[in-house]
Amino acid sequence: MKTLLEMSGVSVSFDGFKAINNLSFQIGEPELRAIIGPNGAGKTTFMDIITGKTRPDSGTVIYGEKSISLLKMSESQIAMAGVGRKFQKPTVFEAQTVRENLAMALKNRRGPFDVLLYRKTSRGAKRIEELAETIGLTDALPRIAGELSHGQKQWLEIGMLLAQDPRLLLVDEPAAGMTPAEREHTTDLLKRAAKKHAVVVVEHDMEFIRRLDCRVTVLCEGSVLAEGSLDHVTSDPQVIEVYLGR
Ligand code: ADP
Repeated sequence: MKTLLEMSGVSVSFDGFKAINNLSFQIGEPELRAIIGPNGAGKTTFMDIITGKTRPDSGTVIYGEKSISLLKMSESQIAMAGVGRKFQKPTVFEAQTVRENLAMALKNRRGPFDVLLYRKTSRGAKRIEELAETIGLTDALPRIAGELSHGQKQWLEIGMLLAQDPRLLLVDEPAAGMTPAEREHTTDLLKRAAKKHAVVVVEHDMEFIRRLDCRVTVLCEGSVLAEGSLDHVTSDPQVIEVYLGR
């Protein structure tokens, strides 16, 4: 597995308060990773740095085989380079069908030739079928997105992000508001996506993290407190004290 993103020694302060403190993080391609940590640990700021929304005061963020610095790129350039982000609240085109939502995401796919390639071609239709299968919405393709359950909307949005062919997908609290069955489906979906892409999941739900069965990074006060399997990090006395013990 080759490294896709390498963050080293990154710090960010807001009005003198260090939200991220000398943070280092690496992810390979493909790889599935989970980030946990108490409120205010810096999880959102960490994702904001990767997407270019927040600029660090110091440190480096290197991306891809050409080792480009994300810190020199705009938010839209970073998105075009294949960094996708799924926010907590699902945003889909409610009045359109699932198929139309996926088709729109494919048309907006990055890369200069893709629009031509995917517009109303059999290849586009095949890709929509593949994406629907990945997100488990094959039967729902003709349905209006606004009528889907909360969980199904989340999956559709993940499908729309996958349609953009991301290299790194940042997913914020995917299990929030889901039923146990929907959570199970979501873990399976993310595991499937992480066979091809680098996927970072920020999540509070420990059972969900357990099912993801991946390397876990515990953030606290803007730094990495522990890293490893869920069993490893949750048996770390420091983690128990500052996070689980609260
Ligand atoms: P988490 O997502 O783990 O809850 P955040 O990254 O949102 O943590 O926040 C980390 C710390 O930085 C918190 O103490 C928060 O109040 C502070 N913070 C985040 N963004 C800003 C901002 N724009 N201005 C001031 N403080 C901020």
